[in-house]
Amino acid sequence: MIKFLDLHAINQQHREEFIDAFTRVLDSGWFLMGKELQQFEQQFAAYCGTKEAIGVANGLDALSLIIRAYKEMGIFQDGDEILVPSNTFIASILAISANNLTPVLIEPILEDYNIDPALIEEKITSKTKAILVVHLYGQLADMSAITVLSKRHNLKLIEDAAQAHGAALDGKKAGGWGDAAAFSFYPGKNLGALADAGAVTTSDANLAQVIRALLNYGSHEKYKNLYKGTNSRLDEINAAMLAIKLKHLDEETASRRAVANRYLSEINNPKIVLPRVKNPMAHVWHLFVIRCAQRDELQTYLQNHHIQSLIHYPIPPHKQEAYKEWGNLSFPISEKIHEEVLSLPISQVLREEEVHEVIALINKF
Ligand SMILES: *Cc1c(COP(=O)(O)O)cnc(C)c1O
Repeated sequence: MIKFLDLHAINQQHREEFIDAFTRVLDSGWFLMGKELQQFEQQFAAYCGTKEAIGVANGLDALSLIIRAYKEMGIFQDGDEILVPSNTFIASILAISANNLTPVLIEPILEDYNIDPALIEEKITSKTKAILVVHLYGQLADMSAITVLSKRHNLKLIEDAAQAHGAALDGKKAGGWGDAAAFSFYPGKNLGALADAGAVTTSDANLAQVIRALLNYGSHEKYKNLYKGTNSRLDEINAAMLAIKLKHLDEETASRRAVANRYLSEINNPKIVLPRVKNPMAHVWHLFVIRCAQRDELQTYLQNHHIQSLIHYPIPPHKQEAYKEWGNLSFPISEKIHEEVLSLPISQVLREEEVHEVIALINKF
């Protein structure tokens, strides 16, 4: 069986380093808000090219806390609108609704699955306060165009970088383009913890300060509460694990790129549409997503030959029961993507012969 993602093998690579770090934290007797977190935050901010990184409990909280902080700062109000791609993972949209703001869905570009900048301006109203871009599947959205639009209309630019750790264009990394960015370190992400974890990156010191209070019950100072906050902390053990994995991230991304390059150059079945890559450094291949009109048959065929594949994602957000108010809306590009996409195995531990087998089977389909 060729696994879609072998999390066991991925983490076993760092076994000795993990055990040393775990022992260090255990022996310190300090488990939350200590120096492991502080060090990881500094290293991750330096990696992303931002002044600050703030560890939080997960990627959804990272997104939600950015929006919540802008509300506390008086920049967003209930009922304001945030533009977001119509084909994203549901968490990008949940973070907006959870804060009583309105998600306004925008179609992606079919070839690269990211938000279409040409469709943004027509959706801007007097209530629009931000663009939430998603670097879907690990590829940076068209950040030069989107940055221009956000400046022209005085909108906050928020990045959902949960799938794009290390993706870069013109030397600027995911997380460093917007006013703030949200990362997830869910175990299956390119930089994955051994539990739920996430971070916000920003160079806005005020925003960072508000988020640091919000994630800690709304408090900067023990037992003094400025906001009706929440508890969304990243623990010391996982901060230590993440610091270890961050050191290896670029080399692991290079391995993912090598797999992707083989898929791109060797899959030649006319039934398969390969993903479009605008710039090799701007894609970190969290997922390698192809399109096929007979997607379900292809998935069954691969399964019968012991190759796992997954669908990211089977149901578009506007067709979800949770958003039944959008049931009558139509997003044809998004719907086509959801009907045709299939994600192939890709990771830093996928072996050459496994890549070869996937390619050979797909070419015979
Ligand atoms: C994983 C993911 C999230 C949510 O992160 P969690 O850590 O699972 O809460 C948000 N947005 C995107 C695009 C994701 O892939």
